[in-house]
Amino acid sequence: MYRYRRNNGFSKPFSLTQISSWVFVISQIIVFIVLTLPLLTPFHLTAACIMLFLSFSLLIYFWIRVSLAQVVDDASYNNDTTRLCNYCCANVNPESKHCKICNKCVPKFDHHCGILNTCVGMGNYRFFICLLLSLLLYNCIISGFSGRIIGDYLISNDRFVERNRKVGRFINIHASVVMNFLLCISSSLINIAVLFLLGFHMYLRMNDLTTYQFIQQSRIKKEDQNKTGETVNSSVNKTEIENTKVTPDVK
Ligand SMILES: [Zn+2]
Ligand SMILES: [Zn+2]
Repeated sequence: MYRYRRNNGFSKPFSLTQISSWVFVISQIIVFIVLTLPLLTPFHLTAACIMLFLSFSLLIYFWIRVSLAQVVDDASYNNDTTRLCNYCCANVNPESKHCKICNKCVPKFDHHCGILNTCVGMGNYRFFICLLLSLLLYNCIISGFSGRIIGDYLISNDRFVERNRKVGRFINIHASVVMNFLLCISSSLINIAVLFLLGFHMYLRMNDLTTYQFIQQSRIKKEDQNKTGETVNSSVNKTEIENTKVTPDVK
């Protein structure tokens, strides 16, 4: 029976996580353009526009590169040793793993990314790391400039309101500062998560592991620990049983 195979991250059906991430990124940049940029000084405004344009372009470029990359195993890169995939009914490389969501075998499978709705493996791992770096840069710019607005507002409230009197005719300054605060918090949280991910992938590279192999290893270790624990527990129980046995008094 034929089962649908996802070609890339933009193949339908889109996942809820994927659509949510698009909505989030679009809302984030709209809030930044409408509520952050107008409150900046002319010098900071120019700097923010240039940085935003460059970082957003990089983010979109790597997002598209990771999503459109072909990460399917055609057993071409290592023909000497292949194995049969029962799902694909084809010979694939031994390091490949079948992704049940995409319904295809992925060489050097790392993980299936729910946000991108595609697999990360040999064909797009480098772009995935570049995407994380560009996401970090982009969110640093967002949090940096929105943080600057909050700082200006807190340090010189009256001067800040006076400086933005013209803007105040169109948007409520105090409400936009609150929105900038939320923007700063959300982008900082994303940065923490991205830094954690980058650190984790650095650790994986140093140990020559993929995320999938790391999870498999952790699972095996846990099972071994449980088995050892059970053995220790059973020997402890045996001793306890032995100790509680009523032995006749020897007189
Ligand atoms: Zn397969
Ligand atoms: Zn997948």
